[in-house]
Amino acid sequence: MKANSFVSVGSWQEAYKLLKASPKNKILGGGLWLKKGNAQVDTLIDLSRLNLNKIEDKGSFIEVGSMVSQRELETSSIIKGFAGGVISKAVSKIMGPSFRNVATIGGSIYGKYGFSDLITVLLAFDVELQFYPSKTMSLDEYLKTPGFYDGILTHVRIKKEDAKAFFKKVCITALDYPILNVAISKAKTYKVVVGSRPLVATTLDKTMEYLNNGGADFKKAAEIAVEELKVGDSMATKGEYRKQLAKVYIERGLEEVNK
Ligand SMILES: Cc1cc2nc3c(=O)[nH]c(=O)nc-3n(C[C@H](O)[C@H](O)[C@H](O)COP(=O)(O)OP(=O)(O)OC[C@H]3O[C@@H](n4cnc5c(N)ncnc54)[C@H](O)[C@@H]3O)c2cc1C
Repeated sequence: MKANSFVSVGSWQEAYKLLKASPKNKILGGGLWLKKGNAQVDTLIDLSRLNLNKIEDKGSFIEVGSMVSQRELETSSIIKGFAGGVISKAVSKIMGPSFRNVATIGGSIYGKYGFSDLITVLLAFDVELQFYPSKTMSLDEYLKTPGFYDGILTHVRIKKEDAKAFFKKVCITALDYPILNVAISKAKTYKVVVGSRPLVATTLDKTMEYLNNGGADFKKAAEIAVEELKVGDSMATKGEYRKQLAKVYIERGLEEVNK
């Protein structure tokens, strides 16, 4: 990536005005993904003066600012105290600590990466995204809407529930991109999510319907999951192998959240 200029903005209005001024102006999170590509950026818009680096317990939900780093999320006592610390554990599997000190939550969600560990685990909960100037939508809706929302992701809100949860990242070597991610949560209802298919994470609705209507045969649930799961091949592995992995880890995850 090459950028012509860098502006550290002092307000939302300024950030948004700059973003709309040219399709070549980009919001800067940690810059790790932006840097990897060869985009020609005109102005990089830095949000670090906008107070977006907080993780707050707001009673019924946890609010995470979009400039919070992955490492801050991983080590937060608020996040560790939610659903057995599953979000913290999932994030801890991304590269090394120095990488996670730089990568931001905003950049990690906005990009809708198929391989995202964070998106997979968050989709197992009720998560809302707040965009400036005036849009709020669920993470699920954001992922299902084609393209990227034309605004600034400011906060991520995670609804607090008394949940048990499971997360598994399968990769060929420890620092690799995942070849499959599985996340399961059980609160009042179940949520079953598979990511790195290699498409972006998705809930498995038929499997959840079976479980949420009293289905208690986890082997059967895993079979339903494999039937409805849409996978593809990638350079790293074949879709058929992803299905086999999903079957094993969904059954295992269901056992885990029912202990
Ligand atoms: C080498 C490498 C390996 C990786 N491996 C993994 C892995 O194994 N698992 C995994 O889950 N992830 C992995 N990732 C992705 C990484 O965890 C981050 O999700 C990614 O780098 C984006 O975060 P960032 O802060 O660097 O975003 P940036 O690069 O700064 O931004 C990414 C995109 O989001 C936009 N953006 C950023 N913030 C906002 C905002 N607040 N509002 C609107 N738009 C915004 C930017 O304009 C840009 O288009 C990897 C990334 C790299 C570079």
